[in-house]
Amino acid sequence: MKLAEPYTIAYETVSSTTNVFLRIETSTGKVGFGCAAPDREVTGESPQDVIEACKSVIIPAFKGSDPLRPIMLMERIRPLLKNRPACLAMADMALFDLMGKAAQMPLYKLLGGYRDRIRTSVTIGIMPVEETAAKAVEFTQKGFKALKIKGGLDVDDDIARFLKVREAVGKKIELRFDANQGYSEADILKFVAGVRSVRLELIEQPSPRDKDRLLGRITQKVPLPVMADESLMDLKDAFRLARNELVDMINIKLMKVGGIDEALKINAVARAADLDVMVGCMDESALAIAAGLHFALARPNVRYADLDGHLDLADDPAKEAVLLRNGVLTPTGRPGLGFNMD
Ligand code: MG
Repeated sequence: MKLAEPYTIAYETVSSTTNVFLRIETSTGKVGFGCAAPDREVTGESPQDVIEACKSVIIPAFKGSDPLRPIMLMERIRPLLKNRPACLAMADMALFDLMGKAAQMPLYKLLGGYRDRIRTSVTIGIMPVEETAAKAVEFTQKGFKALKIKGGLDVDDDIARFLKVREAVGKKIELRFDANQGYSEADILKFVAGVRSVRLELIEQPSPRDKDRLLGRITQKVPLPVMADESLMDLKDAFRLARNELVDMINIKLMKVGGIDEALKINAVARAADLDVMVGCMDESALAIAAGLHFALARPNVRYADLDGHLDLADDPAKEAVLLRNGVLTPTGRPGLGFNMD
């Protein structure tokens, strides 16, 4: 799928994305859909890896089995797909979709149904100051109340962008910052001092993913909530981050962690440690966004959503899988993930 507008973050520029879709049909004619958004930098997979894993592992493991035993099926494939989280997420998603369709309930209700809608932020990649401010205004005019602004390449530029954006959008819009691992300790301290007047909501992944002690020090020193994104890839990471009090918040993306079931477990760890949770996404079809949304709606401590990966896709075959109005996402109300692909 092509992106309507290419964007830049601290470590890459992106102009298109490839997702892989999985369709599971049962002997009674029910059909479940899943989607993988593999990403070499984050999930460590290529689309070809996902397709090969599907042929060699998922199809043999699922064919002829009871589709309403998702945990059994996932445990069967999990040991064989250790470094394939987006592939696992795709399989998990299709099984949960089937479960909801069999129960004739939207998935978020089947999972507990804490809320029925959530505000999402929308992301602005790294751009010159004036363009960033213009983009920010454009998004707020479309009804978005929260903006996530990317940075991490140059502290002074990042500070200048936030000052300009706050001036341009006014006081009521929430502003989030994602450094995508780009900052040192000195960088983040300079940044925080420079944007004191801006009133940021949170700072996402300031420092490199493999530097735990640095992340912990930043969290202690910075007077704003610090969130782990790339540092959180699985349940064990969640436990380690929580036990060592390394962050205030975590960003759960289904593609990183391997699906809804794993996301629910990570969320439980976060709840035990009083960490707030954001549900995030990759560049992914609205079908995968729907899965993240159903998860977020089911659990009270998933207080933040950054589910905008589908918005810029030029030819998403599942673009009606979620509804967006004034920056608020709602599910379609239909069973399972709420969508059937042709
Ligand atoms: Mg991030």
